Amino acid sequence: MRLADSLLTAVHKGHTRLVEQQWKHSKGDRRTLVWPEAALNSSLTGKKQCNICGWRGHAFDVVNGTVEHSEAALCPVCGSISRDRFLYWCWVRRTGYDAQAKVLETSPRMPNLYRERMQERVDYVASDYDESMHRAFIKLDLQDIDLPSDSVDVVLTPHVLEHVPDTDKALAELFRVMKPGGHVFLQIPVPQAKTMVPLEPEYHGDMTLVYFRFGWDVADQIRRAGFAVDTLVTSELRDAAATGKSPWTHEGPDCDVEDLIAGADPSTMTVVADAEQAARHSFRPAYQFVTFDCHKPR
Ligand SMILES: [Zn+2]
Repeated sequence: MRLADSLLTAVHKGHTRLVEQQWKHSKGDRRTLVWPEAALNSSLTGKKQCNICGWRGHAFDVVNGTVEHSEAALCPVCGSISRDRFLYWCWVRRTGYDAQAKVLETSPRMPNLYRERMQERVDYVASDYDESMHRAFIKLDLQDIDLPSDSVDVVLTPHVLEHVPDTDKALAELFRVMKPGGHVFLQIPVPQAKTMVPLEPEYHGDMTLVYFRFGWDVADQIRRAGFAVDTLVTSELRDAAATGKSPWTHEGPDCDVEDLIAGADPSTMTVVADAEQAARHSFRPAYQFVTFDCHKPR
């Protein structure tokens, strides 16, 4: 037993040293390189994996009593929740790697180490609007983006647009600042089939008001701003949409999952993760993971 333990410790140490060397010297796709901090804290036999920092283990951390929620399944190393990982996954899957790419992330909720590591991966800047919950490098209003036209390669925007009063203005501004060929990975909650204004004032966890509850039709609104759009989902969501019936139930007024699935068109969906990948990275339940890939034509 003690021999097995010491062998395991030696393997773990060797792996950590290798990861440190790769982080320092590797010239490949740095978006998928494991952080040294993640290697140090990983269990190499774990079946769960964080695709942002590379941590491996037996279970993500529980948030508010659950793991299967877009805002749960906390990574113990980088602090990502499930939806952060899905957004990152979409970016890595849908674009090639360029260390010089100008990447803007709006209001990331992850700690400083994440921002430092991102700066070692790409030309990264984080922004925020109200600076109440999140500290960012630059202050930025999506409706009036203080950046030159055609200047950004990638925008990562996790659950921000629903808090912006004028959607069309924000989309027009995003279109303006993107370089031709650039991608906005727009992640928003899609709680029912058609876009609506909340009937009652609705706030999310950090006390920011929700102006719109978006539906599948937001893809057309994005197209009207000039983008080409792909609706990125996991295979489990596409398969449920194909049956027209939700295999999930959702408690609470924040989501009408039956309406969402009944009004979904599987032919408009692009699958970016299969069931095994969804389980490994905790992209579950599938209806909480939708990201729009908004592509500015060249
Ligand atoms: Zn992580």
